[in-house]
Order: sequence, then C-alpha cells, then structure tokens
Amino acid sequence: MSRPIHVAIVGSGPSGFYAADSLLKSGQPVLIDMFERLPTPFGLVRSGVAPDHQKLKQSIQVFEQIAGSPAFNFFGNVTIGEDIKVEELQQAYHAVIFACGAQTDRRIGISGEDLSGSHTATEFVGWYNGHPDYRDRSFDLQQEVVAIIGQGNVAVDVCRILTRPVDELRSSDIAEHALEALSQSRVREVHVIGRRGPAQAKFTTKELRELASLTGVTATIEPAQLRLSPVCETELAHLTASNAKKNVDLFSSIAANVPASDKRRIHFQFLASPIEIRGKDRVEGLTLIRNRLSGEAFSQQAVATGDPFELNCGLVFRSIGYRGEPIAGLPFDAVKGVLPNQRGRVGHNGTPLGGVYVTGWLKRGPSGIIGTNRADSIETVESILEDLGKATLWEAPGMAAIETTISGLRKRVVGLSEWRAIDAAEIERGAARGKPREKFTRIEEMLSCCP
Ligand code: NAP
Repeated sequence: MSRPIHVAIVGSGPSGFYAADSLLKSGQPVLIDMFERLPTPFGLVRSGVAPDHQKLKQSIQVFEQIAGSPAFNFFGNVTIGEDIKVEELQQAYHAVIFACGAQTDRRIGISGEDLSGSHTATEFVGWYNGHPDYRDRSFDLQQEVVAIIGQGNVAVDVCRILTRPVDELRSSDIAEHALEALSQSRVREVHVIGRRGPAQAKFTTKELRELASLTGVTATIEPAQLRLSPVCETELAHLTASNAKKNVDLFSSIAANVPASDKRRIHFQFLASPIEIRGKDRVEGLTLIRNRLSGEAFSQQAVATGDPFELNCGLVFRSIGYRGEPIAGLPFDAVKGVLPNQRGRVGHNGTPLGGVYVTGWLKRGPSGIIGTNRADSIETVESILEDLGKATLWEAPGMAAIETTISGLRKRVVGLSEWRAIDAAEIERGAARGKPREKFTRIEEMLSCCP
C-alpha cells in the first residue's frame, strides 16, 4: 500500500480520535479528515464528562496531540448528511468511519413523560456543560424534591451536580449559567430509583462512593430494600461481580445513615418502576410500581408486582441510557440503536457495504468508559486495513472531491487553527473567574473568536 489511505471520520469524540490514533500508528501512509457538527471537538469529553471530574478530561491532551499530526485535518461546524452527503464521502474516501456516538435518549414510554418538569439526563448534562443545543433549557431548581429514574453513572453525575455544595463547583469548567441557577437551588431531597435490585445497580463503586460522601449530604436506603434473594447471592459470589459486591457493601453502610434535617438527602430506592409521571400542567409526582426479580443469575429482569405507590416530587430526570440515531442511506438496528456491523464493518445481515465503518457507542451501544473506545476503534481500524490490504487501492480523491461543496457552504468551517483560537479565548475567560475555561455556549460566540 504505497498510496495514502484517505479516511473520513464523522464525529470528534473519543472513539473518533482513537480511530485516528490507530490509523496514524498503523505504519501505513494515511490522510485523515475528521468532520464535526459543532465548531468544537472532543464530543462527550467536553460536553458529557461532569465538570467536577476534570481528571477524566485529561484525555483531551492526548486528542490534541493526535490532532497535531500533519496527516490529520479537522472540519468543525460541518454536518454530514446536511452540509455534505454521506454518498459524497463514500465516493471521496477509501473508508468512512462513523463515530457519532449515541445522540438521543431512550424513552420510558409512560404517560406524563413530556410534562413540564420532566427532563432527560442528557438535557441537564448538556446544560451544565455548556453544550449549545441545551444552552436555553431551564430546570425548576426551586423544587425541593427531585426523582432520577435509572441507576447508572449518568444518574450519579446528575445527582451529584444537584446536591454537591455549589462552592465546590466554582473552580470547575461548569457553564456560568448553570452555576448561577445551582446557586439559587432549593433542592433538598433526590430519589435515585432503579427498576432492579441493589446487586444490579450499574453505578461503578468509585462514583457511588463519591456520591455517598459529599459534604453536607446524607445518603439513605431503607435496610429492608437490601434483602437479597438466593439468585442475587449467586450473582454476587461470582468472580466477575466485584463491582456489584462492593456496591452492595457500600449500600449496607449507607443504610445505617440517619438523615439530618440540615443536610441535603440522597435516597436510593430499588425494585421500583415509574408507571406514570403525574401532574396537571407540570410534574407533581410519580406513580411507581414495586417490582420483583425474575430469571436466571445475571439475566434477572424486573417484573411488576401490582403494588403501586406514590412519590411526590416537582422535578424528574430520566437517566435510562442513550440511543444511537439512524444515518440516512445506511442500515440501522432500531432495537439496539446501532449501525449493524461486524468488527466495525457496517452491513446488512452480515454482508458489509464496503467502505463504511463504525466505532464507539454507535457500534456497540452506550456502554463503557472513555478508554473502552480505544480497543473498539483499534478493532475497526484493523478491519479497514484488512479490507484495503486485499484490494488494489483505487485513487481516492479525499478532500479534493468535496472541497467545492465545503467552500460553497454558507457557514464558517472551523479548522484546527480556528478551534485553537476558540480554545485560547475560553481559557482566558476562565482564568478571569478562577476556572480552567469558561466555555462559549453559543455557536455564534465560538465563531466570532475565529481569526
Ligand atoms: P447505564 O449504565 O446503562 O444505566 C442505565 C440505567 O437505566 C440502568 O439502571 C437501567 O436499569 C435503567 N433503565 C433502563 N431502561 C429503563 C426503564 N425502561 N425503566 C427504568 N429504568 C431503566 O447508562 P448511563 O448511566 O446512561 O451510562 C452510559 C455509559 O456511560 C455507562 O457505561 C456509564 O458507566 C458511562 N458513564 C461513565 C461515567 C464515569 O465513568 N464517571 C459517567 C457517566 C457515564 P437496568 O440495569 O435494569 O437495565
């Protein structure tokens, strides 16, 4: 392979950057063009990772190094499917890798889900992280009681931002509008509700421990909620269950806590599913139903018992996982919310389309931590190199074929130097407030920094 491989990567989050890294380290001559809908790169590391978890954002330094390669180009503020057609990319590049993540939320499918005061976790996370799509959302933080549906790490992030003393967030890169709203918050009590039991909660113990030890907050659980069935005991005894086991131990110590009236309270509730979000014009409460677990160890499902109960609350966050979105012209697995693929090769019923690949959450579903995407992207790049190694490499024009489309766009396209100008301006704004950066939350503001 002496001709360079021209690769387009759609999406600039961790899986996109790890794919670029793997291509650059492959020993093959490559030219990579990365496309991003927003003017700013780094996807969920910028707008998903919680502002009080700055260490997790250090992967950005690695991504910046990858972006510094002479074989790498960035095209921000360009939407594939709108500004440039998918077919145009397919005709211009040897390989197109979709790394667009899981951009929507799953729905519970109950009445009241769209009432005012019922939000997805995504909206709240995007809002406090300054994502332009969520800049103008508002959350009624004058409510004292909040319910979060779901027991994964996103639910932990939402709960922590709602309950952590606001002064502890001031030196983070949380968006200023969120800091202002949180400083006026009257939230006193947050219920974190799981449809299955304590042994099945998806929290990682590290995140759970941090949540349970926040200053000025008491975490509580009714001890009766921690009774485990023999099947749950079997699960916990298994070698692979060390996280679940540590969670259950931690829940037991939380159950000994006594709520204090001068503290905020986080209450974990297991084996309960909402069947209705109640309210006339806005959320007034949840009707829940108690569940029991049914099935074999590690595949136990929640089954409603028919025993309903009420929880009065003024704000609900649905944190039940993300979903990938279909891409026009490509096959889509609507059940899993992913592009159907084999080792990253997108195809129908196991037959690859050729030239189209996928990585990250759009490939495997919304699971894992930032680093999980590295192995995922390495696998996809291995498939690309294997496929291209078998064929005589045609002369792909790469960017030359779509330059006319790009230069004809009636919008500013953000390259690396423009991104660096936005980055520098954000860092400068942040320094004035003692923060690592103050993000621009509107696309026009971002573009106005570009030289
Ligand atoms: P998740 O870990 O898959 O958790 C989703 C939760 O929603 C589970 O408790 C699930 O229960 C529940 N759920 C799903 N459908 C439901 C329904 N219809 N009704 C009620 N509950 C329902 O997803 P996530 O919290 O969105 O996190 C996504 C990924 O990002 C995870 O891999 C997570 O670890 C990662 N993440 C990591 C960090 C970090 O490392 N700090 C931070 C944020 C996110 P079941 O188990 O019964 O399905």
